[in-house]
Amino acid sequence: MGPTPETTMQFLYALRSKGVTDARVLSAMEEIDRGPFVRGLFAERAYEDMPLPINCGQTISQPSVVGLMTQALQINPRDKVLEVGTGSGYQAAILSKLARRVYTVDRHRRLVQEARAVFADLDLTNVTAVTGDGSFGLPEQAPFDRILVTAAAEDPPGPLLAQLKIGGIMVVPVGQSDAVQTLIRVRKTEDGLEYDELRPVRFVPLLEGLSRDS
Ligand code: SAH
Repeated sequence: MGPTPETTMQFLYALRSKGVTDARVLSAMEEIDRGPFVRGLFAERAYEDMPLPINCGQTISQPSVVGLMTQALQINPRDKVLEVGTGSGYQAAILSKLARRVYTVDRHRRLVQEARAVFADLDLTNVTAVTGDGSFGLPEQAPFDRILVTAAAEDPPGPLLAQLKIGGIMVVPVGQSDAVQTLIRVRKTEDGLEYDELRPVRFVPLLEGLSRDS
């Protein structure tokens, strides 16, 4: 059972009022029901504009932040996109509506398995979830037109910059894990990398290696 039309209206209104104005992003977010990505205790809060806890001590991001990050990526329909930090799979599902192909990597095997199950339920066939340390990217599928990191790094990871095409865009929260982080957009041009700072954000840290618990 999805949200009522009234709940959807309120959800979209909250996104617009926080600056998510791109029509394609808004329609992708209207199409993808956040409900199935939020399980258990917090399911009834799925349509509120707030981050919520998911398994493995992680969080599903705030919808308006998902919208702003997606908008900042300026995705074209032909693009191949990499997301680092699958979490619930919600962000990847939205990317899958905008891009040709999406790969998403998480260091928690359990989260990857759960996200795959939701992608299958929703018939999202152009998104592949992989267990791995996403700070090394996904060399076998590189290069990417767009890369989105949904965990905070101290610096944009070198392997990810290397796996970005010329003309590509990467969006990544940068900063110390417990301090305020800044959302950065990196454009790779013939002449090098151009950085711009988008807004303050707060994400869980990008950690090294696979998780040992799951
Ligand atoms: N995009 C997610 C939310 C991400 S939460 C969503 O839409 O729900 C951040 C995720 O990054 C967590 O699931 C965490 O396990 C993952 N993560 C942290 N460090 C990582 C790394 N080095 N490689 C891959 N995933 C990582």
